[in-house]
Amino acid sequence: SMSTEDYDYLFKIVLIGNAGVGKTCLVRRFTQGLFPPGQGATIGVDFMIKTVEIKGEKVKLQIWDTAGQERFRSITQSYYRSANALILTYDITCEDSFRCLPEWLREIEQYANNQVVTILVGNKIDLAEKREVGRQRAEEFAEAQSMLYLETSAKESDNVEKLFLDLACELIREA
Ligand code: GDP
Ligand code: MG
Repeated sequence: SMSTEDYDYLFKIVLIGNAGVGKTCLVRRFTQGLFPPGQGATIGVDFMIKTVEIKGEKVKLQIWDTAGQERFRSITQSYYRSANALILTYDITCEDSFRCLPEWLREIEQYANNQVVTILVGNKIDLAEKREVGRQRAEEFAEAQSMLYLETSAKESDNVEKLFLDLACELIREA
């Protein structure tokens, strides 16, 4: 057996945000390179591991997907606590998913540790014609809350790699 760990850093990343915004698809796209059509809803919690290399250092990312926040609140609260980073996701074609962000921020404030790095992600940018939330509005919201901001498409694999690599870089900087 190995006497040393096979990574230089280990970070726990937790995805949160309304159901249907694309959290599971973002994780599947990043960890498996897939955009699975017609997959079932995530039950409870589930994590996937992916190791990336940043400037010669091995960074192991433990990525926790979440589902049914309303129904699984007691599960999610316990793992907020040890998260190094949160990916707060909304759907750019769904105003309602953006309007719920303050509720998520209240949860973060209540349950996450105060060192946590949070990135706001506007997903589904491939559906540009259905956009309901403007980029500038979202950027301003993120900045006011000291969050990073990125727009992605899990479907088109747009900015998904960048999302996790940017986050890993930021976590190394703050480690
Ligand atoms: P979750 O509930 O946040 O985990 O959302 P899912 O990952 O299950 O995705 C919800 C729905 O949105 C599914 O029908 C996905 O196929 C769709 N979806 C997710 N990401 C994208 C995307 O980037 N573009 C488009 N067009 N659809 C997406
Ligand atoms: Mg899901």
